[in-house]
Amino acid sequence: MDHVLGYKCSLCGQEYSLNEIEYVCPKHGDAGNVDVVYDLPKIAQRWTKQRLADDRDYSIWRYRPLLPIEPDSPALPLQIGWTPLYRSPRLCDHLQMPNVYVKDDGRNPTASFKDRASAIAVVRTRELKREIVTTASSGNAGAALAGMAASVGQPAVIFVPQTAPEAKVAQLLMFGATVMLVKGTYDQAFDLCLEASREFGWYCRNTGYNPFTLEGKKTAALEICEQLGWRAPDRIFVSVGDGNIISGLHKGLKDLLALGWIEKMPKIMGVQATGSAACYNAWRAHTETITPVDAQTIADSISVGLPRDGVRAVRAATQTGGAYLTVTDDEILDAMRVLARQAAVFSEPAGATAYAGLVRAIQQRMVQPDETIVVLVTGNGLKDTKSAIKAAGQARHIEPTLQDLKSQMSNLLK
Ligand SMILES: *Cc1c(COP(=O)(O)O)cnc(C)c1O
Ligand SMILES: [Zn+2]
Repeated sequence: MDHVLGYKCSLCGQEYSLNEIEYVCPKHGDAGNVDVVYDLPKIAQRWTKQRLADDRDYSIWRYRPLLPIEPDSPALPLQIGWTPLYRSPRLCDHLQMPNVYVKDDGRNPTASFKDRASAIAVVRTRELKREIVTTASSGNAGAALAGMAASVGQPAVIFVPQTAPEAKVAQLLMFGATVMLVKGTYDQAFDLCLEASREFGWYCRNTGYNPFTLEGKKTAALEICEQLGWRAPDRIFVSVGDGNIISGLHKGLKDLLALGWIEKMPKIMGVQATGSAACYNAWRAHTETITPVDAQTIADSISVGLPRDGVRAVRAATQTGGAYLTVTDDEILDAMRVLARQAAVFSEPAGATAYAGLVRAIQQRMVQPDETIVVLVTGNGLKDTKSAIKAAGQARHIEPTLQDLKSQMSNLLK
């Protein structure tokens, strides 16, 4: 990997070679998240926008020169990334903003954004020849890891809180992973997974601990800019739990800016649920000290007491002139309905949270009507059918007769 120089600690700035550490900067316990540092001048010599435009591989692998994997490592045999970026006329009319785009990352193989991260983690596991890859997950990261692992026959052990939605647990099992339902919170599952990986030498994909997840996630930012013809949007709205997706977007945009492929840094808008707002709280208080909260929200994928990538997540907003917003569970359910009905994008609660944040930002006059906005929808609605039914309401029951249909229709038309 001669295009990767090593790691740099996001807290103290200490630099390490790729072989010196595996996960975090040892000076800060488990909290010392490190950034992967690239030799960007070398990459720029080999890789141009034109070469990329000629590449017919429409997936995250088209960005391989900017990913921390060996040039000859086999890609996973799945269509990961290059998800659609829609400009939905009905949604734009609804918002009275002509340039709102929805990026539907529910269209990934396991139906969430997490495939981007887990793909890189599985390739890394293969490079290191580890027997087992493991992660803690509130659901999607595990499903993604299980799916990516299944594509190459890599054994995986996944720790999820036993409260994870049924559909997500079913996915894990379906892909053949060994599933541990932890009698406790996500945070407890996280710590158990770390202990297990230390004890048994498993490769640990934990979010906000493994430096490669963020590198996979940054591909969404690269795609957004490429899909917009290398005109960076004014703002990107994204939901925040652990804070690894928002940090990944920031990293991708910084890489593109350094390469000179975009001219400006979009403002990054982090959106959290009111009941799980540790990053928002820190951002508001102008601090990088993240105080844990008692997390409670319908959006299980962003229900996080202690964000594991909180510092970089706060910086993504402060360093780009963006902001953090919070939205209530009711606003999230509303957003699910509007996205589905105006743009035909069916999202799980955490995915629609980004859109709810845009609605808030419009109400608070934080955005101008002519801005180019990207709303990142991070997970598909079928991931959590209970919440979908809560948002959409129940269907009608009917006798199998035209008569009953007629009487119900007269009700409907009232
Ligand atoms: C994981 C996840 C998020 C939040 O990502 P973080 O890196 O934890 O901030 C948002 N939406 C969905 C659907 C997710 O699975
Ligand atoms: Zn450090």
